[in-house]
Amino acid sequence: MKAAIFLSTHTTTGQFLEIKDVPRPELKSGYVLLRVLACGVCRTDLHIVERDLSPIQSQLIPGHQIVGEVVESATAELPIGTRVGVSWMGGVDGDCWYCRHEMENLCDKPTFTGYTVNGGYAEYVLARADFTFPLPVGLDDAHVAPLLCAGIIGFRSLRVAGVEHAERVGLFGFGSSASLAIPVLQSWKCEVYVVTRGQSHRDFAASLGVTWVGREEEKPPVELDRAITFAPSGKVVVSALASLRKGGVVAINAIHLDQMPVFDYDKLLWGERQIRSVANMTRQDARDFMKIAQDLHISPQVTVFPLDGANDALQAVKQETEHGSAVIVPRAREK
Ligand SMILES: [Zn+2]
Ligand SMILES: [Zn+2]
Repeated sequence: MKAAIFLSTHTTTGQFLEIKDVPRPELKSGYVLLRVLACGVCRTDLHIVERDLSPIQSQLIPGHQIVGEVVESATAELPIGTRVGVSWMGGVDGDCWYCRHEMENLCDKPTFTGYTVNGGYAEYVLARADFTFPLPVGLDDAHVAPLLCAGIIGFRSLRVAGVEHAERVGLFGFGSSASLAIPVLQSWKCEVYVVTRGQSHRDFAASLGVTWVGREEEKPPVELDRAITFAPSGKVVVSALASLRKGGVVAINAIHLDQMPVFDYDKLLWGERQIRSVANMTRQDARDFMKIAQDLHISPQVTVFPLDGANDALQAVKQETEHGSAVIVPRAREK
């Protein structure tokens, strides 16, 4: 099969991946073999190929927002031809302290799709059957893909921030994940305040009907109940913190931050304000978000790339040139 491979020894700037022919994965018990219909590109993929996250495999197929069709190992629940989703959380041990306490996102021995095991920048992928998710009907493969990490983890961020009905919520940094959180917040009657750099991002946020949009150095005109940061920048976390009311929460939706700047505890954190990180996701988050996405008809903006264009897709995420999500469609046909 054809796949886009990241070599941990690669040195050419911008050309993170090599498109190669590799053996199709062999089926194992408890797994399904999927033909990849689409695979979304996530900022985490960029952190992997730029080595912000340490390489775990010398050769890796990235990609963890996979829409696939079951082609082998059909079960009653997953007959051949079933369309399923696979996300970042590719498996857990099921018996560590965290798994036993309904915190499988923090499992001590997790499998991360497209990081600790091969992912979906390929024609086929192996996935643990119990870590595949039913997908909203009525959305094509490319438009479903970004829901699988940007959507689910954005949704988890709202939970970690403790967002309640009709609250004032700030979104700091604006990309795919933030744009997918907006319809959820609006359905909860929240006021949404967006702070982001780049006029085109601000215009896009404004087009989604948010309450207020500002530049990165601007502060929302009201004190926020909750804030979620989406940029891999500690400075943005401090700006978010500075916008909170007493008792408010900042949730950091980022697997990697450049660094946390020094900040004034007395002014910014005192008053029972909290900073929390958002780590991974549970299967329940995935099921709950897919249901909401279906009910609200959430349809991400996407730009489709062929598998041969995987490097271009990563560059698009790096340059933030796209408003929505870059999605790789391995067998994209010319339209
Ligand atoms: Zn565990
Ligand atoms: Zn992701």
